[in-house]
Amino acid sequence: MDIDLPDELVLPLSSGAPYWYWLGGRPALDFVNTLRERWRRRVETLVTPEDLEAWMQRTALLPEDWCPNRGGGQKRRLTDEVLREARELREAIDACVQAAVSGEPLDRAAVTTIDDWLVHAGARPQFALDDDGDAVLGERAASDSPRRALGMIALDAAEMLGTPAARARVRICAADDCSARFYDRSPAGKRRWCSMRTCGNAAKVRAHRARKKEPAR
Ligand SMILES: [Zn+2]
Repeated sequence: MDIDLPDELVLPLSSGAPYWYWLGGRPALDFVNTLRERWRRRVETLVTPEDLEAWMQRTALLPEDWCPNRGGGQKRRLTDEVLREARELREAIDACVQAAVSGEPLDRAAVTTIDDWLVHAGARPQFALDDDGDAVLGERAASDSPRRALGMIALDAAEMLGTPAARARVRICAADDCSARFYDRSPAGKRRWCSMRTCGNAAKVRAHRARKKEPAR
């Protein structure tokens, strides 16, 4: 058994939420893994702005109550524009992931795309008087939380890709029929499969069968 999608899946999906998975080991790689089966059908699981919103909330990058008007009739949802930008960032991160895995220099345009998002990742301090007139140093309400969430993903990607020791731990699952990206936190740094329960186990079973089939000498 591997983590692949069923063959009979009707594409494009109406929502990708049932097909998200979380073994990337860090937000930037879980995010890259939202485009599934990169080796075959390239299945988009961030199908709609609602998908992106739910994914960001699932990863706690976006507060549940990010939208002050939610529940009060007028709903402000993520826009198609943010979804487009999110996918663009995701593919820039993946271009860098692929380069890092094969030990090649990172693509300049992809690096720039990630860098452009870092301005959204910083703290947003605010100095103001509260309701009782007390001066308070706090944090500014995010005017555009979804873009801040993308900024945090870009920051995670930059921390991972911009540090040689971290970059050396970026992996693509060794299984031919799995495109999972993950961060190898194993002490020896020799992890090959996204998961030992799925791809790793399948490889073990195949190797065992191959050994059994070998004619006795
Ligand atoms: Zn795998």
